[in-house]
Amino acid sequence: MINLVLFGPPGSGKGTQAKLIVNHHGLIHISTGDVFRKNIKDNTALGQLARSYMDKGQLVPDQVTIDLLSSELDSCSESKGFIFDGFPRTILQAQNLDVLMDNKNMDISMVISLEVSENELVKRLLNRGLDSGRADDKDEGVIRNRIQVYENQTSVLKKYYSEKLENAFFSIDGERNIDDIFSDIKKILVKYKIDI
Ligand code: AMP
Repeated sequence: MINLVLFGPPGSGKGTQAKLIVNHHGLIHISTGDVFRKNIKDNTALGQLARSYMDKGQLVPDQVTIDLLSSELDSCSESKGFIFDGFPRTILQAQNLDVLMDNKNMDISMVISLEVSENELVKRLLNRGLDSGRADDKDEGVIRNRIQVYENQTSVLKKYYSEKLENAFFSIDGERNIDDIFSDIKKILVKYKIDI
């Protein structure tokens, strides 16, 4: 079983790369952002709560997000492994993920961090906002707030995972074309004898 955390700021390409890995390998892709958006579409109570944070570019509270992730994991217990996209985003979430994985006798196999400059992120997100239908991609102020939240609360996880996983934390240049980035990810997975 392989459990991969795809890490990076909003707009760094986590979702795009996750889909490519899933197509080639069949891991289960868990994107907390996607699950929140599905709840918003279905107008659930969770969706309404999540929306009040997402529209401002803020994080949904930790406990809400951790509970969501936990139930997603429970609902896919037969998986060959998971790709976590957009989770964890805080130290508390990372600590809780460790406990959740421990309880299931699983662990995080590797973390791949996509590095992209702020100017490029803003450009990509505004561009995505033209047809994604995502409210949080339309407003430059909200976009910059999301990047700031990443810098303040999430980027510290690079240190957390590089210390915890030692040889299984990889930082790659995400400011290139999709295929070149995917090719680097494949090399990392192959090195770990993951057939992809
Ligand atoms: P994403 O699709 O990953 O860019 O997430 C979109 C939005 O969903 C974020 O800006 C947050 O408001 C919320 N969200 C997604 N994942 C998390 C998380 N792990 N913790 C808190 N909020 C999250």
